[in-house]
Amino acid sequence: MTQIMCDVARRITTQQQLAIAADRIAFCYLCGETLPARKPGWKKHLSREHVVPRSILGAGATGAFPIVLWVHRTCDAAKKEQGDYCLTILQRFSVPPYPITRRDVRTMNLRPDLLFTKNDAIPVLTGIGGTIDATWPWVRGLHAVLYAEFLPHDSQRLTFAPVPACSPERREDLERRERFGPLLRQLLRRAMSLNKFDRVRAWGGALRYDCCWVRNLHDCRVLCVWQLETPRVREWSRGVLGAENERPWHGLYFAQSFPPQASVFESEDFVTNSEARRLPWVLQRRTAHRRRRR
Ligand SMILES: [Zn+2]
Repeated sequence: MTQIMCDVARRITTQQQLAIAADRIAFCYLCGETLPARKPGWKKHLSREHVVPRSILGAGATGAFPIVLWVHRTCDAAKKEQGDYCLTILQRFSVPPYPITRRDVRTMNLRPDLLFTKNDAIPVLTGIGGTIDATWPWVRGLHAVLYAEFLPHDSQRLTFAPVPACSPERREDLERRERFGPLLRQLLRRAMSLNKFDRVRAWGGALRYDCCWVRNLHDCRVLCVWQLETPRVREWSRGVLGAENERPWHGLYFAQSFPPQASVFESEDFVTNSEARRLPWVLQRRTAHRRRRR
């Protein structure tokens, strides 16, 4: 396992830093293949691609420094095709009224549901599993921007939408997942308070991404805990969960080793935080549970 102790956090918050970061990416972040050398005609099969679609950011985003990377035209087309339905849903839920209407249920194959917790019942959407995964290419693009490193499509991951949501077949798993989300947000808050986090700001601050890296205590892998804010996401979340429980997109993904210059949240940082200490243990249980089900 690569052990990197590094004081330099990755913070990309200005147009110039973003341009430098984008420039050092020598691969297509969607497929991982090396891009052609920059000589005449090199752009022939490439296009400039918005990592997070402009339409998601809406009027809240000025044209100020978007995240645009070079990718293969074919990869770009595949991403768009896959993401279209998801974007429709995300856009629908980025504007009032909340919660969803009968028409949404009819046209979007969504199912409103209730999740009963110990003291509460919270509204849930099912049929939205694909939508949740629509943010995965964004996270992969942000990973490329931060570390100039390819993040494979099939990396193990867990993503939480701003409202409790899942695909219908994951319904039974949802309660356990929902208990896990606050742990991640707590861990990231702690990492930020210790200044051990990496950051991207783009679109004039309309896109806000923060993450930190943690060693998984049960195998030699490492994981990245992240959160992503885009315009109106908080309102969407608040409309369903109430002001005290609102949340942005967040989640985690696994990798084999820490990327260069990644901000690492060491295990001793957990010590004063009993809840976050449970994280590696929870992850272990989750992985074991998955293996059994296969
Ligand atoms: Zn490609």
